Amino acid sequence: MTAERVLVDGAALVMVTARTDRPVTGLELCGELPCWQQPIVMQRAGATWEARVRATAGVYEMKLREPDGAWRIDPAWRTVTRGGELNGVLVVGGTAEPVLHAAAPPWLALADDGRVLVRAALRRGHGERLSLRLDDGAGPALRAMRSTGSDEGHLWFEAELAGAGRSVEYAFVLADGRTITGEQALRFSPRELAPSPPAWWRDAVVYTIFVDRFRRGGSLGAWADPHATDRELRAGGDLDGVIEALPYLADLGVTALHLTPLCTSPSVHRYDAVDPTAVDPALGGEAALDRLLAAAHARGLRVLLDLASTHVHRDFARFQDVRARGPASPSWRWFRGHRWPFIEGHEPGYAHYQKGQWQEPLLAVDEPEVQDAIVDWFAAWARRGVDGLRVDAAADLPLPLLARIRAAVRVVRPDAVVFGEVVPACIDRFAPGALDAATDFAHREAFVGWLGGAPAASWTTVAAAQRRRGALGSGLGFTSTHDQPRLGTVTQDPALARLGFVTVALGARVPLLYYGDELDLASEAGAASRAFEDAWPDRQPMPWHARQSATHAAVRAALALRRDHELLRHGDEELHALTDDAVLVRRARLGDAIDIVIHRGAAPCELELPPGPDTRLLLAIGEVLVVDEAHVRLGPRSIAVLDRRPLPDDLALRVGNLEIAREAFVAGHVECPAYPSRVYLTVTESCNLRCQHCITDAPARTQSGRARTLQPWLLDALHDTFAHADYVGFTHGGESVTAPIFPDVLRRIARARAGRPGRADIHLISNGTLLTSDRLASLLDLGLTSLMVSLDGAVATTNDAIRVLGRFDRVVANLAAAVELRARRSADLRIGISTVVGASNVGELPALGRLCLDLGVDWLKVEETYPATPFARHDLLAPDAPALAAAMTALRDVIAGRPLVLVDHLAPPAGCTCSGDPSVIAFRAADDFANRTRFRPCRTPWEQAAIDPDGTVHVGDYAGHALGSLLDAPMLALWNAPAALAARDRALAASPPAQRRACTR
Ligand code: SF4
Repeated sequence: MTAERVLVDGAALVMVTARTDRPVTGLELCGELPCWQQPIVMQRAGATWEARVRATAGVYEMKLREPDGAWRIDPAWRTVTRGGELNGVLVVGGTAEPVLHAAAPPWLALADDGRVLVRAALRRGHGERLSLRLDDGAGPALRAMRSTGSDEGHLWFEAELAGAGRSVEYAFVLADGRTITGEQALRFSPRELAPSPPAWWRDAVVYTIFVDRFRRGGSLGAWADPHATDRELRAGGDLDGVIEALPYLADLGVTALHLTPLCTSPSVHRYDAVDPTAVDPALGGEAALDRLLAAAHARGLRVLLDLASTHVHRDFARFQDVRARGPASPSWRWFRGHRWPFIEGHEPGYAHYQKGQWQEPLLAVDEPEVQDAIVDWFAAWARRGVDGLRVDAAADLPLPLLARIRAAVRVVRPDAVVFGEVVPACIDRFAPGALDAATDFAHREAFVGWLGGAPAASWTTVAAAQRRRGALGSGLGFTSTHDQPRLGTVTQDPALARLGFVTVALGARVPLLYYGDELDLASEAGAASRAFEDAWPDRQPMPWHARQSATHAAVRAALALRRDHELLRHGDEELHALTDDAVLVRRARLGDAIDIVIHRGAAPCELELPPGPDTRLLLAIGEVLVVDEAHVRLGPRSIAVLDRRPLPDDLALRVGNLEIAREAFVAGHVECPAYPSRVYLTVTESCNLRCQHCITDAPARTQSGRARTLQPWLLDALHDTFAHADYVGFTHGGESVTAPIFPDVLRRIARARAGRPGRADIHLISNGTLLTSDRLASLLDLGLTSLMVSLDGAVATTNDAIRVLGRFDRVVANLAAAVELRARRSADLRIGISTVVGASNVGELPALGRLCLDLGVDWLKVEETYPATPFARHDLLAPDAPALAAAMTALRDVIAGRPLVLVDHLAPPAGCTCSGDPSVIAFRAADDFANRTRFRPCRTPWEQAAIDPDGTVHVGDYAGHALGSLLDAPMLALWNAPAALAARDRALAASPPAQRRACTR
């Protein structure tokens, strides 16, 4: 058999063709297209069989099934092997052999800190290494990929990229130099990979409440029958009971409540709706939901509701009509009736929910009218003000319908989350494509299996596979849902179950806790073998009297740790089997790590830890002793949470940073143990103007989408640099204030420097068009101390012709408002204007001087034109051009004796003040005033770094040698890279020891 794909219908339709080596009467195509639960019947086409399926870019595993149930794979197919299972594989929009990769999630994933992960598998026998060749528009680069494991057929690799905003073309390079790409060039744009969940979701801790069994309002937590688990009898929990429990839940560390359905229904669980959009009066009705939402939101808690849309109760109005009128009913197509009149009981004449639930007719979820109604139901709950919705049995709904549900909810509540119950192992099919998140049952099965005695590899292997499939960020972690036996029931050991709850609380997936687990709720051992959805013994009334359990304390402590450590909320996750009884879960990010060592064994043990710069105990569950940096001793059923990050530098080092650099310079050391004290940082290369003389290529980059923008991971990586710097300059590589992340950058600088004495200057270069008084006020609040605004003429016609899309009048008004704001707030802000002078505006220099005086700014800088564009080359004036000399003389006459510092940057003298040259000393004084820093050019390579939005560090300014990326190494390592040492070597050669000693502090 062979399978090939034919691109039809805009590359969305894939034709799979199979040839058999012997006659067969039929063939089914089974696999991940659309999913294993829905085989596709293939059609005979002469000697072959065909199936057409819609598929976006991806890697799809599949098999053929013959009528007798026999599975087949053609030897000519590409294959993957996982856990001994061989499947055929169809690659759409990906690479050829021997590299397995598609240009789509999860093979490409955008981390929530802005980094892009590229994943690929290399068929065994084609070398041990794999590299990425990249071109983001700045020229090709080669990057080695990191090995992340292997299976029977492939070696697996990953690479992290800066993901600085612009689109990247890439290919894979094998160890023998061969390049592997796709039928078409492989390309990604971080914007298209952007994860869908709202920002709050990754920080969420979700707590599932089975409403009928949680709490009854006004009952003080007492139940008529505290042991009532009957599937037919309501215990009486209601929404006012949930309101009463909010303080308890907030104290536990929960941030979002997931409530089982509230809709009207005769059942205890209410997953069989009579009216899918009405709150059951037995729960308190509509008013109770409003009260709950108000009370929860007042505490900062979110409320997520649940809705089943694959089936309804037989009293659902449209089904009642179908029961009465049969095929004559306008709602007949809503259901899957095959015989009418219906009968009550088994074989009722219509498709119904599984396990004999004939009272629960299935909805025809492929029908457009039904789909419209389902979408409306979800949107209706969103309009009520809930913060998110769970789609019950999401894997039984078509993916496009799930996507419509999410879109409709988002229209109403842009920050709402839509997550789904996805029981099959392929949650990456559903999230993030159609849902924001999905329950990761595959990981749960493996983890609970390990707690129950399975080998450690059975968990770590599944975890690695789920990680490769991108299931971490989009997955919900749990030990049981309301459909499964509780972990306490499965283990019959509260201490072992406690390990499970704490591990979920500290894992990479959003934790999903089940009510009462923290109070050791469990039922007798026999209930552990109950079928899915039949976990009635474990739907007990919440035992409010049992709040002081050790498990409650452990879960509460773990959630507090998660709240306090960003690594635990956002870090990656890798599992290492230390022994069969002990697994280490490493939560890591940018070289920092927290290790969670879980010991399920009944006997004490001593374990060797993987290398880490330090080992400090953050949390102990059970008996834990940190022996030394590499060893930990654990008692039975225990967990050690270990901070493996290096201790933060002390304050003295940060204060002395500049002096340490000076000492290295004076002593002639090319190694520099200090951080750069002056940092230039490009927040974005995108600009709202199209200046004709722009030297940064911002207009073209902005229009083509090649402009890079700083991502959150870089702020993490720059923390220590910010802590040590005295000066951060935001250069004009684009317009910083157009980047939404800019205020965050300033906040992170302030946070990193908190508690450090001495001033820090924040210098912003802006085109001024967007610097309204309000925006400037907020920037002042965030630490801005120095502002340079560009104007290239003294009148609108001149300026706006050069600075295309610039608005002279608006910039002047903004400058006037800035000066007024400074005076009103007595703000420590230095303000100046910079002008690039050429043939088209040279005559306006005196008028520009008058404008500066009228505005009351502090300085005016006159800069030479740099011949970077055709306009600039045409407009360029030599520094000694007579017209320029005359204009400068006239300008000096205008400002003579007035409080305006003139920076003549037309032919700036080189050198440092320590040379003693008076022209250098005068120029440096004016230029330093305008930049609000102290430049010492002779020791720039020890003091100054420029950083691109993708984390590339340059020594000196942006034209200086690139030292590497902060994605790969910390600043101090880059700051002592060979190119930095060479730059210092050259600086030392130009600065003899006596002069260095004279270099003032
Ligand atoms: S404002 Fe600056 S970055 Fe933007 S186009 Fe003009 S010169 Fe270039």
